[in-house]
Amino acid sequence: MIPLAKSAQPAAIAVLRQATALKPKRKKASDGLLPSKAHLSRSPNSDHNSGFACDLTHDITNGIDCRQAFIELQSDPRVKYLIFQGRIWSKEKGDREFGGYAHPHHLHISIKEDCGKDTSPWFPWLGKAKVINKVKAKVKPLPKKEG
Ligand SMILES: [Zn+2]
Repeated sequence: MIPLAKSAQPAAIAVLRQATALKPKRKKASDGLLPSKAHLSRSPNSDHNSGFACDLTHDITNGIDCRQAFIELQSDPRVKYLIFQGRIWSKEKGDREFGGYAHPHHLHISIKEDCGKDTSPWFPWLGKAKVINKVKAKVKPLPKKEG
């Protein structure tokens, strides 16, 4: 089992904060950082345990289109692997079918171990967030438990 971290890595937190700053009305129902107890026993070797993973809610209407993010984030050097709607992508193995939980409502992002502190923009294709929205996104609560 990967030991449970006390808090998520800054890079993982930045995914959710930046998404909210860019899309303040986005849905967050499937957002996640650290795992719940149930998730922990189901997936003992999840990158959520170490704080190096983030789940981002798929929201075409008011939020992030995770179909697009699944493609765009393949060129982000911080990404270890991505899972969304039955597909998994990693640099080593490319885009392929995923046999585990299909992730219908959120994009799972696993972050490389040496990139945990890198909070540079995760969504450069969406442009820049307004300063006021960045300030507001900072004070919004983050999800504590996932799954
Ligand atoms: Zn996940």
